[in-house]
Amino acid sequence: MSQPQVRPEIEDLPTYKAGKQVDAVAGLIPYKLSSNENAFAPSPAVLSAIIESASNINRYPDPFATALTKSISTKFDVPEAMIATGTGSVGVCQQIIQATCASGDEVMFAWRSFEAYPIITKIAGAINLEVSLKQDASHDLDAMAKAVTSATRVIFICTPNNPTGNVVSQSEVDEFLKKVPKSVLVIIDEAYVEFNRDPAAVNGLATVKANTNVGLLRTFSKAYGLAGLRVGYFIGPENVAEAVRKTAVPFGVSNIAQSAAVACLEHEEELLENVEAIVQKRNWFERELHALGVDFVESQANFVWLPVGKDTEAFTKLCAEYALAVRPFAGEGVRISIGEQAGLDRVLEVIKVFQLSKNVST
Ligand SMILES: *Cc1c(COP(=O)(O)O)cnc(C)c1O
Repeated sequence: MSQPQVRPEIEDLPTYKAGKQVDAVAGLIPYKLSSNENAFAPSPAVLSAIIESASNINRYPDPFATALTKSISTKFDVPEAMIATGTGSVGVCQQIIQATCASGDEVMFAWRSFEAYPIITKIAGAINLEVSLKQDASHDLDAMAKAVTSATRVIFICTPNNPTGNVVSQSEVDEFLKKVPKSVLVIIDEAYVEFNRDPAAVNGLATVKANTNVGLLRTFSKAYGLAGLRVGYFIGPENVAEAVRKTAVPFGVSNIAQSAAVACLEHEEELLENVEAIVQKRNWFERELHALGVDFVESQANFVWLPVGKDTEAFTKLCAEYALAVRPFAGEGVRISIGEQAGLDRVLEVIKVFQLSKNVST
């Protein structure tokens, strides 16, 4: 039967799996610990910026995000020409790949890493080059450098890595950049950088400034708590920033998102206090996991990775029975966001029940 034709690579695409909503369980408050969201509600200053700009939604937004671009430029001391904004950093990612890759070109990233990379690569008709993480879940930058071909256009380094939470060090990245041709764009995805406390981790901004082929991705969705508003940005080579602006969906970043993001940067100190509270909670959660003898990857993000392997499905199901949504990766492990305290307390309870049931069955 004839019907409108969709490109085969689009038909084959996996659908992006957003963090699952929590199913209701009688008597239990549900907690969603599956999407790395910020559990703090927006601050009064951010809320009033949102409300104020809401009264202008009969107008198109500023297509150049002028005020936000200025704020970012001031904050990082980079020229505005190096900055491009987008509908979340996923939107920016897609703009980057559309701007740099044609059919048959390659996009490289570690695997497992951020699930959006392979999807947006395929949408562009480009080819995914996935290089396995090492046994300890760290990036194998040696293998990645060796895997570069004449068709490689973009390499993503996600640090802290989603879903494993660990970072790539500055010295590793410096070594890597010596081996990668300057014609290849290396993107450091720092969606969770505000939660990092490891001084050896790569400094994305300094690396952008020191290299001609490095770009940075940042988002307001995680530390700044604006996941629902869709705003992120790129800082990098001017020609790439310009191309990223050209490939944006016109008027994609709403006025509400722009003014909320500006308000976040103006009130950053308060927001970073929340971030510090999340970091403290993460450290507490890891100590508890350690005390329970649970294997985990030390995290510098707002989530923790439990490599539970073949137990992934059973553990996720048990969490759901306790009204907890966590993020499973079948056969590999579970990612748990550092959300509400009561949710994390309950995760620890579920782990104890799970350990008990395993001891009984073995
Ligand atoms: C969450 C996330 C993003 C960004 O999400 P947006 O909401 O689109 O800004 C980007 N990269 C990684 C690795 C993430 O986990």
